[in-house]
Amino acid sequence: MVKGVPEEEVDTVVKKILDYLQLTKIVSTKPTDGSLGQGTQYGPGVNWKSAVEISDEDHFLDLSSNSLEIQTGRTVFYADGREFDSIACPNCGENNLECDWSTLFSQWIQDPTTADWQCKNCGTSNAISEYQFEPKWALGNLGFTFWNWPRLNDAFIERLEVLVGKKIEKVEGKI
Ligand SMILES: [Zn+2]
Repeated sequence: MVKGVPEEEVDTVVKKILDYLQLTKIVSTKPTDGSLGQGTQYGPGVNWKSAVEISDEDHFLDLSSNSLEIQTGRTVFYADGREFDSIACPNCGENNLECDWSTLFSQWIQDPTTADWQCKNCGTSNAISEYQFEPKWALGNLGFTFWNWPRLNDAFIERLEVLVGKKIEKVEGKI
């Protein structure tokens, strides 16, 4: 998930990342109908290996759902559905596990300006989307889901971060 993308910048960031992924042939230029998810999707390109950690994990190429899905609009991204161990304050790191996160997530989807939580330790108010969740969940306007791909490598993520000038949070898991 790309952090801190205002709604008016979403289309620009999507274009930058998609242009890069297609130019480097990490994904195909032809949209496909993915069997998972709903957004626009593109299958793996001939250079998909440059994006992943372990390049011999090619069995995902045989799966019917192996495309990149681009999700725009406020979304709660997660891959690991276990209960939270920690909901850490972005200011002091205190675990605010007792907050009513499910209500805050719903409020954030409706209107992110109404979804602040005040840390019980340092008293700082931040939007729930700024807290750090363990297992990793992320709230944002823009996400790229690589369905069934091997783990993406850090150098690839860093290249995308430099390209768009934003922080990218990797949300990983098997579904
Ligand atoms: Zn705090």
